[in-house]
Amino acid sequence: MRGKVLQKIFPALGTVNTIALYGSFAPETAEQVKKRVLDLHRRFSLFEQGSDISRINEQAGIKPAPVHQDTFFVLFHALAYGRETQGAFDITSGAASRLWRDAVRSAKMPSEPDISGCRSLGGLADLILDKADGTAFLRRNGQQVDLGGIAKGYAADEAVRILKKHKVRNALINFGGTVIVVGREQKIGIQNPFQKSGVSMADIMVKNKAVVTSGSYERGFFFEGVRYHHIIDPRTGWPADSGLLSVTLVGDSAMELDALATGICVLGEKNGLPLLEKRGIEAVFISNDGEVKITHGLQGKFFLRSN
Ligand code: AMP
Ligand code: MG
Repeated sequence: MRGKVLQKIFPALGTVNTIALYGSFAPETAEQVKKRVLDLHRRFSLFEQGSDISRINEQAGIKPAPVHQDTFFVLFHALAYGRETQGAFDITSGAASRLWRDAVRSAKMPSEPDISGCRSLGGLADLILDKADGTAFLRRNGQQVDLGGIAKGYAADEAVRILKKHKVRNALINFGGTVIVVGREQKIGIQNPFQKSGVSMADIMVKNKAVVTSGSYERGFFFEGVRYHHIIDPRTGWPADSGLLSVTLVGDSAMELDALATGICVLGEKNGLPLLEKRGIEAVFISNDGEVKITHGLQGKFFLRSN
């Protein structure tokens, strides 16, 4: 055992991932976490040929694809979050997500027929998981699964599992806005959705918890004065328009928070709150006009910045 602070930063899962370890730990621990996250990236990626998700999508309407147990686990839970959010969190809305991802990239509006065509390709009931065979199957041609709304959460939970196995007591994980504080209390900044990336609007004090932020402020473009972005309302095929600019959730499972944060960006505060209360999850909501609301459990732990 040696070491006091060690930080590793690496790209995966479409974002920048940071692992910071404090105290005494075996030096190879961070490397093992990184390797695990890169393995998950290779299974979950939409863009890597041969990934489990690419194969499910390529074989949509044709035949079931055998998938790794990591993928099966995340697909299974993602469907459950889908049902729980009445389809607001929907991993089968991949065709619409892709349409708007391309629109954001090119800053060009998609056509109405394309939007409604992609919307009609979504459907939680069309993703068939077979536990005995370890396969996943999309019933209809052209359907697409997209784990972008949940993969970072699962990866962060897995990172913490490895850290704990190696007896790391204090650490901070940040996988592109999906944060877990292991051990002693730390101050976590919440992105100011009206400012450039890296500028915080507030801080929360967190100890042994996950903190996950989803925001429509992230990837988007303006067209005729209206902003369009990357979180899709599967019910309409259009970017979510719930009045929320960002949702930050505080709880125990990063995977659960990741899915729910994306889903609540679609559902809005009023419809999202009952889901959170039921599960003992705390939240910070930032609305389109900059109004900030927090749940009771964050009182005394939440501080707005003066800047
Ligand atoms: P997050 O940053 O966790 O909120 O995830 C956003 C990503 O999830 C998007 O870039 C899409 O890949 C995907 N996504 C967009 N809308 C939804 C939705 N309604 N349900 C599930 N995943 C979505
Ligand atoms: Mg998410």
